[in-house]
Amino acid sequence: MKKRGKIIVFTGPSGVGKETVKKLFINDKRFNLRYSISATSRPKRKGELNGKNYHFLTKEKFEKWIKKNKFLEWVIFSNNYYGTPDHFLNKYLKKGENVLLEIELIGAKKVIKKYPDAVTIFLLPPKISDLEKRLSLRKTENEEEIRKRIEIAKAEIKEKDLFKYRVVNKEPKESAKEIIEILKKELL
Ligand code: 5GP
Repeated sequence: MKKRGKIIVFTGPSGVGKETVKKLFINDKRFNLRYSISATSRPKRKGELNGKNYHFLTKEKFEKWIKKNKFLEWVIFSNNYYGTPDHFLNKYLKKGENVLLEIELIGAKKVIKKYPDAVTIFLLPPKISDLEKRLSLRKTENEEEIRKRIEIAKAEIKEKDLFKYRVVNKEPKESAKEIIEILKKELL
């Protein structure tokens, strides 16, 4: 039988650059990584694809999935639902793939409770003002939404010590290198 894969929980405040850093290590063949595609009820951003970035669901459909117990964890983040579907996760873990969950703090805590052997990584900004800058530059949220995300970010950063590894994202390539070293240690 194949050795069961591991879960990698990759968390960090909105705007820290998780997506950019992830792209720099997710395809590294040594680690047999599989990205877990979350479901969300938030509107699709320009350039995002259903089934690639997220499973984009209506609020009603998301609530149906909750009732049917389809999520390992789900949260309401900034007025929208986000959740990790259980089905795909288990399928890939069984196949021996290591599954990366890119999720916010509350969901991460639920996953860590259920899977204490998960590899946990928290990506930090050098300064809070860097988050504001990034969120404003990407122009995907309005001012009110940015303000909310910054408040959430401050609360999330306070709990960074729950994560085994903390990486300060000064430069995405450097952060990806650090994460590759972590994955070598934990997975190989
Ligand atoms: P965004 O709207 O910027 O794509 O995501 C907002 C936040 O939700 C990010 O911190 C992202 O990591 C988090 N997120 C994405 N998918 C999930 C999920 O399935 N569960 C949880 N708990 N958070 C998620």
